[in-house]
Amino acid sequence: PQLANQIAAGEVVERPASVIKELVENSLDAGATKIDIDIERGGSQLMRIRDNGKGIAKEELMLALSRHATSKVTSLADLEQILSLGFRGEALASISSVSRLTLTSKPATQNEAWAAIAEGRDMQVNIQPAAHPDGTSVEVADLFFNTPARRRFLRSDKTEYQHIDEVVRRIALSRFDVQIKLTHNGALQRSYRVANQNNADARIQAICGRTFAEGAVYIESDYQDINVSGWLGLPQVARNQNDMQYCYINGRMMRDKLINHAIRQAYADALPSDMYPAYVLYLTIDPKQVDVNVHPAKHEVRFHQARLVHDFVYQTLHKALHNSQQ
Ligand code: ADP
Ligand code: MG
Repeated sequence: PQLANQIAAGEVVERPASVIKELVENSLDAGATKIDIDIERGGSQLMRIRDNGKGIAKEELMLALSRHATSKVTSLADLEQILSLGFRGEALASISSVSRLTLTSKPATQNEAWAAIAEGRDMQVNIQPAAHPDGTSVEVADLFFNTPARRRFLRSDKTEYQHIDEVVRRIALSRFDVQIKLTHNGALQRSYRVANQNNADARIQAICGRTFAEGAVYIESDYQDINVSGWLGLPQVARNQNDMQYCYINGRMMRDKLINHAIRQAYADALPSDMYPAYVLYLTIDPKQVDVNVHPAKHEVRFHQARLVHDFVYQTLHKALHNSQQ
């Protein structure tokens, strides 16, 4: 099973940032409202994610680390959905096969915390008592220590940290209701506080920086069962092609060709040719109107009423950008 896990890890765990993504998503799945991420040396030495979610019972700890163990699939219909997303029930098993992983947890209903430590070549899991508040911590040390070829592919601490920072930014943009802190080598780097409609600007500023936040126009518009909202950066803040371009469809980050086209068109006469649009956009649409699993890896979707969605996004953005320039 160790080898199978390591092979699976090749798909799930590319670099420290992919570990962070999987673990933070698990915390969100567990209903956490507070997530602390501590990393050492770009994540190659240590990554620790602590949440205040529902926790894992002592008798489930072992299972959580085994392959294809997921508490999230209960029916065949679920399974089909999940298979198409890939990697389900594999993240913890995969990560623990290429690192030294400790999973510590305390559900509110349990009096003590317990830790599961996966070690050694055959991934023997030891369960021992621990001290932990309600919630879960996952500690991943020495990533790729037993797969030297993979370890050599890690870039500098700074580069790996930047990837982590970006992953955390994307997640933070999708969940304003969750507090997230990111610490690197003992120094607090990011602190994203919970925001509602009234203080959303403060969170956008914390995540995307002051230049973006101060220059951005907020938009919000409905048409039938489609809603688009978010922030459009003004030309002077859009420097690089992929800088600050975030689009969420029903809460999930996507890079959708149709939406990208609508955005580019809307910006076309508002931007000098050497500039790129910067934006944080949220599109919500009746889930029945969209197929999300067209290209799980490419983050693409298919809209049933593609033309309508395209034109609605285009018109909303075009109008906002045009008005802001007067
Ligand atoms: P998946 O998320 O696809 O179910 P994972 O390997 O990522 O697979 O996690 C395995 C299981 O471990 C999850 O189904 C969940 O029951 C449990 N788990 C993992 N992380 C957490 C967490 N932070 N809080 C509560 N339960 C967790
Ligand atoms: Mg998971």
